[in-house]
Amino acid sequence: MRVAVVGAGVIGVTSALAVKNAFSQFEVRVFADKFSPDTTGDGSAGLWSPYLLGNTPSDKISEWGGITHRWLETFWKAGLASEIGLSLIPIYRVTHDPHGCHAPNWTKLVYGAHRLSSKELEKLNEQYKENYKDGWMFVTYTAEPVRLLPWLTKRFLEAGGKLRNRKIYALSELIDDGYDLIINCSGLGARELVGDNTVIPIRGQVVRVTAPWVMHGFLEDDDHGNYIIPNFDSVVLGGTHQENDFDCTPRKEDSEFIRNGCCRILPSLKSVEERKKWVGFRPSRPQIRIEAEVIGSPKGREVMVLEMNVIHNYGHGGSGVTLSWGCALDVLKIIENTKRLKSHL
Ligand SMILES: Cc1cc2nc3c(=O)[nH]c(=O)nc-3n(C[C@H](O)[C@H](O)[C@H](O)COP(=O)(O)OP(=O)(O)OC[C@H]3O[C@@H](n4cnc5c(N)ncnc54)[C@H](O)[C@@H]3O)c2cc1C
Repeated sequence: MRVAVVGAGVIGVTSALAVKNAFSQFEVRVFADKFSPDTTGDGSAGLWSPYLLGNTPSDKISEWGGITHRWLETFWKAGLASEIGLSLIPIYRVTHDPHGCHAPNWTKLVYGAHRLSSKELEKLNEQYKENYKDGWMFVTYTAEPVRLLPWLTKRFLEAGGKLRNRKIYALSELIDDGYDLIINCSGLGARELVGDNTVIPIRGQVVRVTAPWVMHGFLEDDDHGNYIIPNFDSVVLGGTHQENDFDCTPRKEDSEFIRNGCCRILPSLKSVEERKKWVGFRPSRPQIRIEAEVIGSPKGREVMVLEMNVIHNYGHGGSGVTLSWGCALDVLKIIENTKRLKSHL
């Protein structure tokens, strides 16, 4: 069985690794025109925290997010944190919204989550000179994609997987090349590749700074909120979330918004050394798409066996790292649950 995975971002690499690990006899090749460190995840802090997922059902978010959180936990317990870029950090997620935040399901998945009491809020507001109305505190992982992706890619190659730098213009190219199954993890690229215009960019501009004294994350869950997320040797200051904005150059007004907002939260950031401004596009969709499809005329060698020749896995918005392994296992489930494939193996 020849499997082509389109995309080498966090979704493509995790899907490819999951399939290759489960079916070592399959030939699995990743095709992409961008690899780490040039994928969307590479600029992100890789914080485990569901964000900007459209109407993706909350039970799916909990399922995929929970699997991914436990997956990161196994790496943590195996002592692989430094290799993978994994940190465990306390986070405040607060809002100025007088209606407060609801109690999302995912708070059960992280460690020690608790809603801030009015006393705690009062203290926080005193300390931060703010007027937050509600908030949560919890402990969770950051898995820095710029470290995680090379590590996962190495595991994939060691398992016998292959990589190819190639832009794919239509999935049928790969069917014509003799691939039996294509896993489409093209993120925002799905707009062109499969003509899915429901995928839109949510532009995110961030700044990485050197501030080793910042050891907790702080997220303002508001329309014009800022965030601060420490990574291994830098801190990510954010950020914007501009829908349908394709401008990939950092903008002065966004930089000012980030700097002013983050210094308002943590005045100790005023004199920090700036390392890099970065813009990325979160691949947003009304819902994450994970489903099988048959494309073209089903004449391929295996399509009759598999009853499909494409599995889509894209549209992860601001949560690609957070949901990656759970979604990769869903791709596996689709393959495993294909009754006829089972009897074929
Ligand atoms: C500012 C910012 C901060 C973020 N912070 C976090 C965070 O803290 N935690 C979190 O979980 N998520 C975060 N995210 C979201 C996360 O980065 C994305 O959800 C995730 O990177 C999407 O991964 P992906 O693999 O689907 O897409 P991408 O990383 O964009 O990868 C797409 C891949 O497909 C390939 N491709 C596309 N079309 C084609 C084609 N036609 N031919 C060949 N190859 C193709 C590309 O080359 C690339 O390899 C953040 C995003 C941004 C912008």
